[in-house]
Amino acid sequence: MNNLVVGAGFSGAVIANLIATKLNEEVLVIDKKSHIAGNCYDYRDNNNIMIHKYGSHIFHTNSEKVWKFVAQFCDLNQYMHKVYAVIDGIQTTIPFNLNTLYDIFPQKLAQRLEDKLLSHYKYNSKVPILEFQKQDIKEQDDDLKFLADYIYEKVFLNYTKKQWGVKPEDIDSIVTARIPVFISKDNRYFQDIYQGIPIDGYTKLVEKILNFPKIKIELNKDFKEIKDVSSFKRVFYTGAIDEFFDYELGQLPYRSLEFKFEEKDCAFYQKNSVINYPCNYDFTRIHEYKHYLNDKSDKTVIAKEYPKIFKLGENERYYPILNEENTSLYNKYLQKSKQYKNVYFLGRLGDYKYYDMDKAILRAIELFEEIINA
Ligand code: UDP
Repeated sequence: MNNLVVGAGFSGAVIANLIATKLNEEVLVIDKKSHIAGNCYDYRDNNNIMIHKYGSHIFHTNSEKVWKFVAQFCDLNQYMHKVYAVIDGIQTTIPFNLNTLYDIFPQKLAQRLEDKLLSHYKYNSKVPILEFQKQDIKEQDDDLKFLADYIYEKVFLNYTKKQWGVKPEDIDSIVTARIPVFISKDNRYFQDIYQGIPIDGYTKLVEKILNFPKIKIELNKDFKEIKDVSSFKRVFYTGAIDEFFDYELGQLPYRSLEFKFEEKDCAFYQKNSVINYPCNYDFTRIHEYKHYLNDKSDKTVIAKEYPKIFKLGENERYYPILNEENTSLYNKYLQKSKQYKNVYFLGRLGDYKYYDMDKAILRAIELFEEIINA
């Protein structure tokens, strides 16, 4: 085999596909899990409901390149993700937007806050909460100060403490900036041009990306079983970079999740696919899967999502924990990785980056372009 790909998630599948189809070279894809598709893995359960085993995945992208690649292998439905959160007992839209004001506050106050927001920010602008709190205008305006503190406390503080174990200001600002205060009436979670759910699911999509004669897949196979990386022309490693080096410089921290699934004897449990509980309970959100593909069943399946510390051998890595200390350790591993001329690291774990699916796909496409243009 010329090429080895470690990990059969999106990053691994896309790079394997490009090497096999564009260079016509053989690729061996291994994964220690018993299934392909990594943490995007989904399956139909005994009620014929498509379950996202590792939490809700919604495809969204503005990248023409990513879209062209993905569209070769699947059709998306026109699902546009919306998320509600229970704040002070009221179910309202997240990201916090102009409509949220009216759900939560008395009409007069909501109107005043909307007017003030619109006089300070352009319509459709997105303001990360940590910036909104720091704005000078806030110092001059009691209403906006009240609003910034309210959103920080009711939407971000407790959710982030549950999710990351720290306060919003103690995690890289790009994390909370993913869900900015949105000066808009657009209730969607994402504004990307292309968004939806693959109608046959993510596992099927990854299967199609990998389904080429030059690609061989071996599941339940650990990278540790590969004796010698130098026997391959190229190795694409999408596992955790610290694991590749046997934790020589120490372990990179990750956040994990536990999903507690419940089958309910009713057609629907909640009005939406995801409802966040920023301030209540010890789970962050409840997923109800049948909303994604409009699955028909008398029953429904929900999952409560509990953030966990990642512990080696006990649970899965889900998120890199982005802060200065961890980034500096990652950079040391990255430096070490330069000694291998034929090993490429990619993916959420290989790059230690909080990629969405489209960003992981784009990274794999761009790595391929780098290789062929080198
Ligand atoms: N967040 C929050 N409250 C919410 C939603 C998000 O505090 O109701 C913060 C939290 O820190 C979270 C981050 O914003 O980790 C990013 O949220 P996103 O929904 O993008 O997370 P993912 O779906 O990737 O877990």
